[in-house]
Amino acid sequence: MTLALNVDAEPGTVGRRMHALIAELYPICRSITGDGLRRTLRELGKGLPMEIHEVPTGTPVLDWTVPKEWNIRGGYIRDPEGKKVVDFQDSNLHVVNYSVPVRRHLSLAELKEHVFTLPDQPALVPYRTSYYEETWGFCMAHETLEGLGDGEYEVFIDSTLSEGALTYGEVVLPGESAEEVLISCHCCHPSLGNDNLSGMAVAAFLARKLHSRRRRLTYRFLFIPGTIGSITWLARNEEIVGRIRHGLVLSCLGDGGPFHYKKSRRGDAEIDRVMEHVLTREEERGNAVEDFVPYGYDERQYCSPGFNLPVGGLSRTPHGRFPEYHTSADGLDFVRPEHLERSLETCLQAVSILEGNRAFRNTQPKGEPQLGRRGLMGSSGGAGTKSEWHMSLLWTLNLSDGTHDLLSIAGRSGIGFEVIQAAAEALERHGLLTPVEGRW
Ligand code: ZN
Repeated sequence: MTLALNVDAEPGTVGRRMHALIAELYPICRSITGDGLRRTLRELGKGLPMEIHEVPTGTPVLDWTVPKEWNIRGGYIRDPEGKKVVDFQDSNLHVVNYSVPVRRHLSLAELKEHVFTLPDQPALVPYRTSYYEETWGFCMAHETLEGLGDGEYEVFIDSTLSEGALTYGEVVLPGESAEEVLISCHCCHPSLGNDNLSGMAVAAFLARKLHSRRRRLTYRFLFIPGTIGSITWLARNEEIVGRIRHGLVLSCLGDGGPFHYKKSRRGDAEIDRVMEHVLTREEERGNAVEDFVPYGYDERQYCSPGFNLPVGGLSRTPHGRFPEYHTSADGLDFVRPEHLERSLETCLQAVSILEGNRAFRNTQPKGEPQLGRRGLMGSSGGAGTKSEWHMSLLWTLNLSDGTHDLLSIAGRSGIGFEVIQAAAEALERHGLLTPVEGRW
């Protein structure tokens, strides 16, 4: 089975719909818990069989504990004249995420101890959190801070930090096999486009695409708060973990940079080989496949040694490597429909290979079988040029000794996976290949 790579009849339509979803979710104040996260999950789950889980505050999860739930209605700083310096209503980045409630008057020097800016990017507002420390703070442009004079300031944060729950969304699309593909994205950042609304949009549209298709593999999508979400899911689902054969953590997929794939901890998992094949044959240059490091997004948890799952990370420009990262500049203009759509297509290419990768055994391994007599030489069915088709038949026959899967044949031959797959299907029809058990 080859999944269609064009995600929509009219190019650009899907990208525009993805961007529209991002624009809708952008103003919501998400965090690792709370109503903003819930609202986001409800939107993402539209049209999908999404189960929304609520895990109570205080639940032990691996070495962690589900935190208190945070909600916020507003917050501001007023200057000595009563004028608002920053207001949560203008941007939810202005209040440090997870700030405890506060209402007090204080001097500029005292205020500065609770203000975060970016002196090197003076016009931008940074994104800051205080998840595991009960404190409060504001974020603003450095140039705003520099304009503040002495006097008495008023700070107000109308938030709650109390017993509640950690919320996450889970979509399972069953396939013919119980073997699973895990697609995970973090959903905990407030008004930030590339990190992390782009990953959420790509995951949600990938789920929508796969929902209506025949599937060999089972697909499990996790829409979770970063770190604590994957830790919570792993703690509650240890019996499922063994079914995960492949996985991708999606993040930062809406900018115009080249793709970056971060390998799983194993380094030689099938998903690692799939992504290498997909990304190194792209026409656009600069795509990179990088080794695992124990820092990043939720692949850190999936690839912790006790799980060691075959899960890698897919981004365009990775976190921390674009100047807009974790600032107010990572907005709706920074993520573009065409980049989102290209990212979705890349995920669909990977899925197509995961669905179609099999191993065969050559039934006539002594000498080359006579292809012309079987009418195999001219009938490429549109897959590749005539000489490429010929070479794909020869490579597939030669390497189908039971130890090479189609993906490794594609890699060794330098021929695209779809052409090798078509060659294997033709050879199987003529009885020259037989599938290897357990490698449907
Ligand atoms: Zn982030």
